[in-house]
Amino acid sequence: MSAGTAVETPADVVARLRTAFRTGRTRDLARRTAQLTRLRALLTERGDELAEALRADLGKSRKEAYRTEIDFTVREIDHTLERLEGWLEPEPAPVPAVLAGATAHTVQDPLGVVLVIAPWNYPVQLLLAPVAGALAAGNAVVAKPSELAPATSAALARLLPEYLDRDTVAVVEGGVPETTALLAERFDHIFYTGNATVGRIVMAAAAKHLTPVTLELGGKSPAFVDRGTDLKTVAARLASGKFLNAGQTCVAPDYVLADPETAGALADALAAAVEDLFGEDASVSPEYGRIVNERHFDRLVGLLGSGRTVTGGAHDRDEKYIAPTVLADVAPDSPVMREEIFGPVLPIVTVRGLDEAIAFINDRDKPLALYAFTQDPSVRARLLSETSSGGVGMGLPLAHLTVSDLPFGGVGESGMGNYHGRYSLETFSHRKAVLDTPLG
Ligand code: NAD
Repeated sequence: MSAGTAVETPADVVARLRTAFRTGRTRDLARRTAQLTRLRALLTERGDELAEALRADLGKSRKEAYRTEIDFTVREIDHTLERLEGWLEPEPAPVPAVLAGATAHTVQDPLGVVLVIAPWNYPVQLLLAPVAGALAAGNAVVAKPSELAPATSAALARLLPEYLDRDTVAVVEGGVPETTALLAERFDHIFYTGNATVGRIVMAAAAKHLTPVTLELGGKSPAFVDRGTDLKTVAARLASGKFLNAGQTCVAPDYVLADPETAGALADALAAAVEDLFGEDASVSPEYGRIVNERHFDRLVGLLGSGRTVTGGAHDRDEKYIAPTVLADVAPDSPVMREEIFGPVLPIVTVRGLDEAIAFINDRDKPLALYAFTQDPSVRARLLSETSSGGVGMGLPLAHLTVSDLPFGGVGESGMGNYHGRYSLETFSHRKAVLDTPLG
């Protein structure tokens, strides 16, 4: 059967890729580099098509599409291209005295055929950054974009086969039935980004084949704002991190913890920061996005009733628009605090101080990110050592994931495993131990 035909079953796709993998061609460094360079060319030459699809799916502005998806992924590829050869150098290991004369080292072995399942919120970046890692590691890849970003899914399904070797990279579009069928196949690794409910389904399916998984999940990422900080700066940074992509960002600050005095002043500063970002009416701002679909819109509107509305609250179902909203005096057990918000609603919960903030965080699932705004080194040290989260951003939300030399991933309910830069190579490789003992 020829590559990319509509009648190919998931089993056919995996078999075709496995045959190509077994030829050994994905292992060759020059070929890996060439494929990554082609992926880069897709992003730079066809970026406008992707940006247009992102506008159709999420109302993403062109500027935001380039900054958070296209250019982001190009930088990730460049980082890898510059370092890949060095990363692949065998790593020597000392041998014990009884093995004197022998040498030991590790090599990074490609895994085989891997599956990447992406969500809808950053549908380009979250598909192609893992794909880049899998290719760098010398694998064949099945890429499954999210059906909830249909224009982007279609664009990726059209462009990837145009730029990359169809026998080692395949795109399978679809929703639950198609993904379920794919998950019945044997893969050598499954890399899933999305919610934890589906994460459990992916892991259960993987268990049948003993396939290792990376789960990039979400959760409620807290932001602790200490007393005595410059609230204008804090509010500007919190608002731009929170309301990017209309709050539909896995590492967005989900809620704020502050003492009552700080919380009051911060609420006002946040209202001013929202206006600075999007003007008096965000519905007419070209920089402000939309909610992905009616289901998420209805869910989010149901969260708007918690606490006191400081700014925002307006919404329009036809436009899938929800204004950037800040809620103050939010009770810890209110609806907005019971689930990951994943939308443009920022609740402020008051706590008496750092002890209560730490207890509040530790009483809940381990978050994907923890943010802290403080000048006090002892507060930073306590937050770092007394809480657990996938990553930490001191003084700035979101930006830690732009550092390719940092691993990006969750812990506990926010996920397992990580990627970006060298960590992607580790994720999509097996570190093979080699002992070489001379004969005679
Ligand atoms: P989604 O609905 O697009 O689902 C993700 C993927 O799972 C899609 O490709 C979808 O087709 C597939 N899927 C859905 N139901 C399935 C099923 N029953 N069986 C198999 N596959 C299925 O995206 P989502 O889950 O709404 O994404 C939002 C969540 O993802 C949030 O919790 C967010 O925090 C998290 N997220 C995490 C990261 C990260 O990097 N850690 C990034 C973005 C989003």
